[in-house]
Amino acid sequence: MEKDIATNQTILVIGGGIAGISAALEAAECGRQVILAERNALLGGRTLQLYRYFPKMCHPTCGLEINLRRIKANRNLRVLTMTEVVGVSGRRGSYRVKMKIHPRHVNEKCTACGECASAVSSEIPNRLDYGLGKTRAAYLPHAMAYPMRYVIDPSIVGTEEGRRAKEACRVGAVDLEMKEETIEIEAGSVIWATGWKPYDASKIQPYGYGRLANVITSVEFERLADPAGPSGGRLVRPSDGKEAKNVAFIQCAGSRDENHLRHCSRICCMASLKQTRYVSEASDAKSTVYYIDIRAIDRFEDFYRKVQEDPSVNFVKSKVASISLDESSGDLILNGVDTEGYHRYANRHDLVVLAVGMEPELGMDLPEDVVTDSSGFIEGGYAAGAASSPLDVNRSVQSATSAALFAISDIHRISATEDAS
Ligand SMILES: Cc1cc2nc3c(=O)[nH]c(=O)nc-3n(C[C@H](O)[C@H](O)[C@H](O)COP(=O)(O)OP(=O)(O)OC[C@H]3O[C@@H](n4cnc5c(N)ncnc54)[C@H](O)[C@@H]3O)c2cc1C
Repeated sequence: MEKDIATNQTILVIGGGIAGISAALEAAECGRQVILAERNALLGGRTLQLYRYFPKMCHPTCGLEINLRRIKANRNLRVLTMTEVVGVSGRRGSYRVKMKIHPRHVNEKCTACGECASAVSSEIPNRLDYGLGKTRAAYLPHAMAYPMRYVIDPSIVGTEEGRRAKEACRVGAVDLEMKEETIEIEAGSVIWATGWKPYDASKIQPYGYGRLANVITSVEFERLADPAGPSGGRLVRPSDGKEAKNVAFIQCAGSRDENHLRHCSRICCMASLKQTRYVSEASDAKSTVYYIDIRAIDRFEDFYRKVQEDPSVNFVKSKVASISLDESSGDLILNGVDTEGYHRYANRHDLVVLAVGMEPELGMDLPEDVVTDSSGFIEGGYAAGAASSPLDVNRSVQSATSAALFAISDIHRISATEDAS
């Protein structure tokens, strides 16, 4: 890749989730030169891994489609995928940015015909499905991927399978010689849209994630519900593939807890309320939500009220103390105290979904002018979306617009100073 792709009048957006896409578009549509760097093979971030999103219950691809059209129409915006920002130094007006470009082994000639995938039989864990399912080692990351281009996994490069994938491509798009590259660019302003990651549920010892097969996380449940996901949209339990009929949702799994994440992840209540809808729509199954308090503010309260009216959804005000396994059935017994009646319970469920907290995803040292709060979220105007705090999609887009304005005014100031001197 040519090294002079940016100047001190370029805005760099780190992260191509909904927040990064929105910030990049806002700035580019105002006439600024923007680079959007995304470490994955496609844009969309974690929103693309949701089945549907509240409050309207629409599919994430609806919102994405409009943005992709805007991206294709904008010449000021350069999108770099498989490009991980690994270091940013300097200060506003003159940042130095180090980026690692991971090889896709497929170039821009790709027509997404899928012949390379047909020629390959080895499989790798499907990252989109949080590893719940598998995909071929030559794969299209998503049916609506941007860029619409296959990826050849490094595990088959240098093997007979890799050679077959290359031979199968009739347009010469498979390039097994691509190597990882590190480049350095400059940027006048940086927008941090690095998003979030789910809290590691195996650290919450009493809930047995990783040990009890039928305890899964809320992000995994999104993939189960999706017809394009690992179970074809069937809400089945991992231990035996049986349809789940009695699902427990445990709130604040890792959030608002001194031993784990001190902050409230805010989204989890709404995410679980939404997921009870997946359960009631899919079958004659029922849901029970174990909660400390439900945080559904503003217009989300209507959504909460509707779920409360659903006879298939039960609410228990309690922090579940422990989960044990009934070996004969694979069912799980949830133990705790219902704080409304102050009685102990030992409730049986066939699937447990942990509403895991959201942690900031920031795997690098920050320049001096970027500050984080005690939970690691970035403070100030240059953070967009969940990099700034646990935000839903709507609020992520709002914060992205605001970050774009900060960055635009930086560049405006730089060019005004340079014009004057
Ligand atoms: C279980 C669950 C369900 C949810 N359901 C809903 C819902 O129904 N409705 C709703 O509004 N919200 C929902 N949310 C919240 C929603 O997922 C977030 O609002 C959204 O993902 C925030 O987008 P983002 O762009 O800020 O972050 P992300 O989606 O995390 O995107 C960040 C991007 O940055 C990239 N990145 C990170 N570091 C680097 C780097 N160093 N270099 C390059 N790229 C990098 C990542 O690969 C990623 O693509 C849910 C959350 C959870 C936990």
